[in-house]
Amino acid sequence: MNEYDSNRLADLLKKTGYERTKDLEDVDCYILNTCHIREKATEKVYHDIGRLKKKYKNKKKPTVFITGCVAQAENNEMLDREPYIDAVIGPQSYQNIPKIIQKIKKRKNKLNLTSFDVIEKFDRLNDIKNSSSKTSSFITIQEGCDKFCNFCVVPYTRGPEYSRSMKEIIKEANELVSNGVSEITLLGQNVNAYSFTDNSKVFKLSDLIFELENIKDLLRIRYTTSHPNDMTSDLIQCHKKSKKLVPFIHLPVQSGSNKVLKIMNRKHTREEYLAKINNLISVRPEIRFSSDFIVGYPGETEKDFNDTISLVKQIKFLNSFSFIYNKRPGTPTSKQNSINEYIQKKRLIVLQNLLSDIQIKENSDQVGKLKKVLVENKMKNQTSYFGRLENFTPVIIEKVTNSDIGKIINVRINNFNKNNLFGVKEHVESVVAA
Ligand code: SF4
Repeated sequence: MNEYDSNRLADLLKKTGYERTKDLEDVDCYILNTCHIREKATEKVYHDIGRLKKKYKNKKKPTVFITGCVAQAENNEMLDREPYIDAVIGPQSYQNIPKIIQKIKKRKNKLNLTSFDVIEKFDRLNDIKNSSSKTSSFITIQEGCDKFCNFCVVPYTRGPEYSRSMKEIIKEANELVSNGVSEITLLGQNVNAYSFTDNSKVFKLSDLIFELENIKDLLRIRYTTSHPNDMTSDLIQCHKKSKKLVPFIHLPVQSGSNKVLKIMNRKHTREEYLAKINNLISVRPEIRFSSDFIVGYPGETEKDFNDTISLVKQIKFLNSFSFIYNKRPGTPTSKQNSINEYIQKKRLIVLQNLLSDIQIKENSDQVGKLKKVLVENKMKNQTSYFGRLENFTPVIIEKVTNSDIGKIINVRINNFNKNNLFGVKEHVESVVAA
């Protein structure tokens, strides 16, 4: 979501005469868009600002904005601690950035814009054209979360769940596709809770997906990140009926232990999670899953950890993320004692080795097969091309031309490593979406 927000910020500032640059030696305005999910995010901001100060020691100081969830969480503290920062701007106030720049230029005062006004944010950003022309692009459709998992900062930094107008999302999708985008990933902190009411009719994520399918040159649709409890029957059926929705879902479970799920306040059990997975498999047998895992949560015993391991073995998750639990200030679990760090690290290694073994086995099973790959771009070596399978696995492809970018082509897989597949384009008449 931060990548999407950064791009929209660039689009917004373009309107006011600013241009995006990779040259950090000579900027008028420096925006550090931050993520608060991982530990030490705040300290990283101060280190980055320290480096910036050194760069501009003998030059005109740029205007410095901290945006994103760290800005939201720290707000005034950040302005007090680091006078080099001109404004902290929470995710719900991005639409105000052009005005803030003008105010700072005129009055030289510090600004804290971290109130929650997500409706205004979406309304204003709707007017800014999303200029992405990559093959695969994001669209934010929902922000915030009402779930309040005990380890997570999102409900505090992104606020309550709010869904964007379906009409605006479709408009943005049409613009992206006319710009050459072939795959859209619908984004939200709790994306499958999407619910927008128009003329007393409630539109859910499944309705939105069916509408987006009508965009002719849109080939693939993804959505992330989902909560198991919002995996409703209409959405499950959508995975059966949709021709463009990929058979792959990032559906975080965090732990396989009912005890840990309870203390995390995840509001679902292992059995309920498995039931959703089985329902999805029953409507779309080839569907695969990825997940996030938190290892070494306060109170996690060896038995709890083994429950996670057995769940991973059962579902055979692909392309997943696993982390050692770390405290996020302001969350309920941050007050609890952490378990032994050595044990946490040991468990993470066991889990990551297992996830890696599953991925390697999956990748090796693809050798010799003909797979549908969406070609995204030419690689730096200028001979190979980069694409992805429906399940997000990267594929390095040979014998492709620039005219294949943005298309789904057939690729004969001939090699693999832990992270990638390798293959050669094979000509087959008419390849259809997803
Ligand atoms: S559902 Fe996801 S975003 Fe919401 S509180 Fe839980 S972990 Fe955070």
